Order: sequence, then C-alpha cells, then structure tokens
Amino acid sequence: MAEPAFTIEHLCDDLGPAKVVHLHDSVTGLRAIVVVDNVACGPSIGGVRMAADVTTEEVFRLARAMTFKNAGAGLPHGGGKAGILADPRAVEKEPLLRAFARAIRDLRDYIPGPDMGTDESCMAWIHDEIGRAVGLPRVLGGIPLDEIGATGRGLAACADVAARYCDLDLAGATVAIEGLGNVGRPAARFLAERGVSLVAASDSRGAVHDPDGIDVEELIAAKQASGSVAAYSKGRRISPEELFHVPCDILIPAARPDCIREDNVEGIQAKLVLQGANIPATPAAEARLHERGILSVPDFIANAGGVICASVEYHGGSESDALAQIVEKVTRNTREVLESARADGIQPRQAAVAMARTRVEEAMRLRRRG
Ligand code: NAD
Repeated sequence: MAEPAFTIEHLCDDLGPAKVVHLHDSVTGLRAIVVVDNVACGPSIGGVRMAADVTTEEVFRLARAMTFKNAGAGLPHGGGKAGILADPRAVEKEPLLRAFARAIRDLRDYIPGPDMGTDESCMAWIHDEIGRAVGLPRVLGGIPLDEIGATGRGLAACADVAARYCDLDLAGATVAIEGLGNVGRPAARFLAERGVSLVAASDSRGAVHDPDGIDVEELIAAKQASGSVAAYSKGRRISPEELFHVPCDILIPAARPDCIREDNVEGIQAKLVLQGANIPATPAAEARLHERGILSVPDFIANAGGVICASVEYHGGSESDALAQIVEKVTRNTREVLESARADGIQPRQAAVAMARTRVEEAMRLRRRG
C-alpha cells in the first residue's frame, strides 16, 4: 500500500503544531480544519481560507508560515490558520461562518483573520458570535488594512532598507509589479512617492509595459473603469508572463504563488525582488536569484504589513499606531535579515527563518514546561 501523503509523523516537529482540529457540523454542512501551530509568543493569529479543496496539510503549512511571519514581525502572537471546505462562490457564507465561529469558541489560542475566500464581513460575523477576530470593518473598530494599503506601505519601507544592500537609489529607479491588487496598488503608490517609476504592471487579464514610466493614478483609474491594467492608454500590451523579464530595478510579485520558477528565473533583470505575495518563488528559483546576485526579500519579512496592522487592531491600537508600527517593524526586520544574510553569506530566506525560529525558541524557553 502506498504511504499516506500526510501523516502525524510528517506534521510534528520541535515547534508544533500544538493543535490540529477537524470541525464538522451536520446542520449547516460546515467542514473545517484549524491548525494552531505554536503559541509561545502569544495566541495564534492567522487567516480563515475558504476553498473547496483546502487540505489539512495546506492549513498546517500556512499555520507554520504564520508562526514565522508573526515571530519575524516581532508580534506577540503565534501562528495558526483555518480552512473551511467550501466553494466561496457557491455557498451562502454567513451561516457557515457563524457555525465555524461557534465551533471555535473555546479554541481561544486561535484568532481568525481574513484570507482567500473570506473578508471583513466574514470576520464581523465571527466576532458577533464569539467576540474574537481581526480584520474587522471600521464600524466595529477595525483598521481596514487593504484600504490603508498596509502591506504596500510595508513593502515600500522594506524597499527603503533593501535598496542600500544592492546599491540602488530609489529616486530614479524602476519597478515592475505583478498583480495590481490590494498589495500591488499601494506598493506602486508608495514607491512613486519615493521617485520610483512604474514601468510594467499586470493583473489576471493582461499587462502593460512602458519604459518611459506609467502614471500610477491613471493606471489605477483605467483598471477600475475597465477591469484590467491592459486598458491603460499608453505603453505596450504584454502578457502577464512577460512582465517578469522587462528591464527594471525592482520586481514585486504581488499575486500568485510560485510565479518565479526555474523556467523563468534566468530572464529576471531586476536587482531587487520584494516578495509581496506569499510564496511567490519556488525554493530552487529563490536559490538561483541569490546565485545570480539578485537580492530577494522573503515574503514573511516583506509583506508583514497586513498582519502587523491586524495585531495593532486586536490590541486596541489606532490606525496611526498601525501605520507607525508597520514602518518601524518592517524596517527593523528587513535590516536584521539582510545584515545577517550578508554577514553569513547565506540567502535572505535562510537568515529570516533562522531569526524567526530563534525568537520562537526563545519564547518557548520562557513558557512553563510540563
Ligand atoms: P487581490 O485579489 O487584491 O489582488 C491580486 C491581483 O493579482 C489582482 O489584481 C489580480 O487580477 C492579479 N492576478 C491574479 N492572477 C494573476 C496572474 N496570473 N498574473 C498577474 N496578475 C494576476 O489580492 P491581494 O490581497 O493583493 O494579495 C496578493 C498576494 O499577496 C496574495 O499572495 C496574498 O496572499 C498576499 N498577501 C496579501 C496581503 C494583504 O494585505 N492583502 C498581505 C500579505 C500577503
């Protein structure tokens, strides 16, 4: 018989997971998975993903990524994640989310947030049931992280630091952005404020390239009006795949996982890659970027702005506290990771994982044993 692809032996290591919970409610049809990976730094925060094919393995990997992201960002939170097995386009979400909330009422070391297939209304329903969720609407005291461009703001702060590690002057530099969404759009705006010229942008329906510079506000308006960046009036239409190979100083993948792979990494011309999306590069491609001398700041350091904002909201902070903490924490952590990667001659990801792991282990030593 073939080995099961995913067993408890595969799952457990010295960090976690602390809990793997399968939920089923026959009345609403709720089927869900919650993984609380590690809570040494504090109660876990992580998104609720709704997808018909979400698996325990995926939820565990995402929960572990949150352990590293939250520790890497210096937040008093561990990592967790939830998956609801349902097609978000085909179900009535409110009864499912409310049933989910009731089912996790006593799982107090997990604080849900939005993820693929869920949004701030979903968090409001959860909060209404159990008084615990982040990423809430403004009327409930939430700090709307996409509206304020939390992650894009963090990416720009990351660029300020990273530019110094690859001899780049942001004023006059160029950037190409894959995915002009909630991450890519504010990143374009905040980088433009620093004098960085946007030369290419894509979305799921097309891409545009203009080496003379794209007007960010005009591009956003064109996308809003037509649904795609391809409607921008100037420049040349290219395929979304071509975007990775345009001449530019900074490349920001801000859409899909694994969009930088062994089969396209050689054509990347940028000096600096800021990982806006989660896992935008395969491990082999990330290693190759490093070999080619291209500085790539790992996702959980570069895109931590969103979760920093969520944490400030959870602890009752204001929008201005969130903005200040995003800049402060992303700046400090980018510097620490790039400094240690340079000193040890290792990939920034290795340095980032080591930093996050050290923080989690330090917190674990301070917890009661036995
Ligand atoms: P979004 O849905 O707002 O935007 C995604 C954009 O990518 C859209 O413009 C979409 O058209 C585009 N896109 C989709 N497929 C594409 C393709 N094949 N080629 C080019 N563009 C494509 O999503 P988002 O919130 O901006 O999230 C983007 C990524 O960043 C995800 O990986 C997400 O997990 C990660 N992330 C988001 C946040 C946040 O604060 N929103 C925080 C951390 C990480």
